[in-house]
Amino acid sequence: MRTVIYPGSFDPLTNGHLDVIQRAAKLFDRVIVAVARNESKVPLFSLEERVSLVAGAVAHLPNVQTDAFGGLLVNYVESQSAQAIVRGLRAVSDFEFEFQLALMNRKLNERIETIFMMPKDTYTFLSSRIVKEIARLGGNVSPFVPPAVEAALRARLNPSDALSA
Ligand code: ADP
Repeated sequence: MRTVIYPGSFDPLTNGHLDVIQRAAKLFDRVIVAVARNESKVPLFSLEERVSLVAGAVAHLPNVQTDAFGGLLVNYVESQSAQAIVRGLRAVSDFEFEFQLALMNRKLNERIETIFMMPKDTYTFLSSRIVKEIARLGGNVSPFVPPAVEAALRARLNPSDALSA
């Protein structure tokens, strides 16, 4: 049983994340999307909300599960008997940080491999941060996120708009 962990903040999940999840699901027997508690960032959505938005969006993928984790990622990977971590690479700008993280995780536990997947080119400009910014300014985010995420963004950032929709 080959299991891969896809960790991240997912604040919120975008179609770019989903693209990586779908690619990983073809390569591994089991994919666990692990939503980070991440004490150092103040998220727009709570851990429970982020987990539930991911779970809804991957419900049609039988070998994908959703979970929350805190603490060291390598410890979580071991606890799930997983062999690898998958991360998405969008552009050269992601590379330096991801390279550092992957090598540090290898120092912490050399049995765990990190693999990188590139999303479809149309998603390379997408980030949770940019999606939140567009939603905050009243822009249409439907091409970039699953419908439930769009609704959650609208409710969180513009509650009166969500009521009248
Ligand atoms: P983190 O806070 O750990 O960076 P994110 O939720 O922002 O969490 O991202 C999780 C992973 O998904 C990271 O590897 C990130 O590079 C990747 N990722 C984010 N957006 C995209 C995208 N549009 N296409 C592919 N990978 C992405």
